[in-house]
Amino acid sequence: MNRYDCIIVGSGPAGLEAAVNLSIRGKSFLLFGNENLSIKLETAPRIDNYLGFPGISGRELQRRYREHLASMNIPLRTEQVNLVYPMGDYFSVATNKNTYEASTVILATGTSPAKLLPGEERLLGRGVGYCATCDAPLYRGKTVAVVGWSNEAALEANFVAELAKKVYYLPVRKFSQTLRDNIQLITSPPVEILGEHQVEAMRTKTETIPVDGVFLLRDSIAPSALVPGIQVENGYIVVDADMQTNLPGCFAAGDCTGKPHQLMRAAGQGQTAALAVTRYLDRKASEQ
Ligand SMILES: Cc1cc2nc3c(=O)[nH]c(=O)nc-3n(C[C@H](O)[C@H](O)[C@H](O)COP(=O)(O)OP(=O)(O)OC[C@H]3O[C@@H](n4cnc5c(N)ncnc54)[C@H](O)[C@@H]3O)c2cc1C
Repeated sequence: MNRYDCIIVGSGPAGLEAAVNLSIRGKSFLLFGNENLSIKLETAPRIDNYLGFPGISGRELQRRYREHLASMNIPLRTEQVNLVYPMGDYFSVATNKNTYEASTVILATGTSPAKLLPGEERLLGRGVGYCATCDAPLYRGKTVAVVGWSNEAALEANFVAELAKKVYYLPVRKFSQTLRDNIQLITSPPVEILGEHQVEAMRTKTETIPVDGVFLLRDSIAPSALVPGIQVENGYIVVDADMQTNLPGCFAAGDCTGKPHQLMRAAGQGQTAALAVTRYLDRKASEQ
C-alpha cells in the first residue's frame, strides 16, 4: 500500500490551508472532506473579519477556496474518515470507501457533534457503528436503524438495506435521495439507544423501535471516537503551539482544537500544522 506523508481529515479553512502548504513543501498527501468544503462557509451570509476580503459572503469564499485548490491541482476526496488508528510509525486511516496509510495526520474536522446520543458511547462496537459501508455485512437479514446527518447518509442507508431485512431511516437534516422499499422513514427525532450489553432498540420522541444495530452517520465524528487514545478536553483536541497532539505524528487544527471558532484562526492553525508536519517528516528522515 502506498504510504503518504500526510492525510488531512477535513475540508474547511484549516484542512485546505494545510493542504496548500503541504503542496508547496512538496509532500505527498490526501485531503478528505465534503463536496461543499464546509457547511459553515455555505451558511455564512457575510464575513467582515477575513483580512483582505471585507464583506465577502461564505459562498464566494467557498468558490475562491475551490479555485485555489484547482490552481494547485489539489484533489479533494469526498470520503468520510471513520477511524484514524496509530500504528507506531504510521497511521492507518479507514474511510467509508477504503483504507489508507500515512506517516502523519492532520485532524481539521471542525466542531464535533455537540452531544452524543445517550447509549451511543456505551454501545459503540456493540451494535452502534459509524461506518455503514464497513459494517453493513454484520446485519445481513437483521433490522437496523440509520440516523443520517447528510444527504449521502441516505445512500448509505440504501446500501445497508441491500443486506438487512429492514432498515429504519431517521434523517436529522433534509435529504433528496430515493430510499429503497425495505426502508421505513422515521421523522420523529432519535432520543436514546437502548440495550444492556448489545443494541436492542432505538427510542425516538414518539416510539421505541426494536433494532439489532444503529448506524450514526454524522458529517463529523467526536475526536475520541475518530482517533483512539487522543487527548481531548471539554470536547476539544489538546494541542501544543505546533498543533501537535499527544500522539506523535498526529496534528490538529481549526475549530476542533478550541475557541474562538473563526476562519482566520482555523486557516492559520492549518498552516502551522502543515509546517510542523514538514519538520516532523524531515527530522524522521534524517534519523534514518
Ligand atoms: C453561520 C456562520 C457564520 C460564520 N461567520 C464567521 C465570520 O464572519 N467570521 C469568522 O471568522 N468565522 C465565522 N464562522 C466560523 C467559521 O466558519 C469556522 O470557524 C471555520 O469554518 C472553522 O474551520 P475548520 O476548518 O476548523 O472547520 P469546518 O469549517 O467546520 O470544516 C471541517 C470540514 O471537515 C469535514 N469533516 C469533519 N470530519 C470529517 C471526517 N471524519 N471525514 C471527512 N470530512 C470530515 C466537515 O464535514 C467539514 O466540511 C461562521 C460560522 C457559521 C456557522
